[in-house]
Amino acid sequence: MIFERIAIIGAGLIGSSVARAARETGAAETIAVFDASEDVRVRACALGLGEVADSAEEAVAKADLVLLCVPVGAMKDAALSAVSEVKTGAIVTDVGSVKSAVIADVAPHVPAHAFFVPGHPIAGTERSGPEAGFAALFKRRWHILTPLADPRAEYAAAVEKLEAFWRALGADVERMDAARHDVVLAVTSHLPHLIAFNIVAMAEDLESVTESEVVKYSASGFRDFTRIAASDPIMWRDVFLNNREAVLEVLGRFTEDLAALQRAIRWGDGQVLYDIFDRARRMRREVIEAGQETPAPNWGREN
Ligand code: NAP
Repeated sequence: MIFERIAIIGAGLIGSSVARAARETGAAETIAVFDASEDVRVRACALGLGEVADSAEEAVAKADLVLLCVPVGAMKDAALSAVSEVKTGAIVTDVGSVKSAVIADVAPHVPAHAFFVPGHPIAGTERSGPEAGFAALFKRRWHILTPLADPRAEYAAAVEKLEAFWRALGADVERMDAARHDVVLAVTSHLPHLIAFNIVAMAEDLESVTESEVVKYSASGFRDFTRIAASDPIMWRDVFLNNREAVLEVLGRFTEDLAALQRAIRWGDGQVLYDIFDRARRMRREVIEAGQETPAPNWGREN
């Protein structure tokens, strides 16, 4: 057991997975849950995710660890309602997909008697809501912590303890600077999602290929994009609004490289195409060898 009592604010895919994993591994003795949606609170109760509280204040009152598991754009509201009431020595963390903006929104509201250690599980699916969560979500996946520049020895101890919690849930933990996190994730997660949303929306729009034909003859490339594009629109709207600079930077580079591919196709330059495709293919092997993917889609998971 790492924490006696944890409070999860936001009982969607990530929050409910934390609740399930913490119970299954015994990383927390008592789990309190709060969600802004009454409907989600009722469902969280039926799923037995933990002690479902009627308010954020009630959930966090005696918690040793508070996890903010709400969309990035709701972090400030969640912090305002939940964080000011935390007990002395409590650790506050979040799971937001963007770090610099969340730190700016949450850190000012964390009282000096508590410790804010931002984080991001590199784990998820395209589903959302409390039913979508599962205990194994974090197993063998990276959890990135972006600690603040807080010189207190107690702060360093809080970071260690939070690291132990995520390790108990099965994650591999790494520490990173928040700005670096935002650029790295813009490349590995945010841009791929933007491309998927764009391709799927474009296919739906194309007048010459009706939607039914796109669906009927859906090749595996397009099918994979539809899985990514099925992700929660609120979560992803918030990611792009809150990681604007890093995404625009990476998008600029992407569109330049796309123009180079376009030129190679126009001029029939097969060597340029082959070299780029060959490099990309090797990257897939590296990702599998690094244990970040299995040859089967979605890590061979059914959920
Ligand atoms: P989700 O399934 O949509 O769950 C979020 C829950 O938070 C919803 O039930 C929502 O209620 C509730 N909520 C919104 N504002 C709130 C507030 N102020 N106080 C309390 N509850 C509130 O989302 P998720 O996929 O778990 O994502 C949660 C966070 O994890 C996001 O910051 C996201 O960036 C991050 N993350 C997601 C993934 C992924 O693959 N999904 C991976 C890593 C990190 P309503 O529906 O009523 O608004």
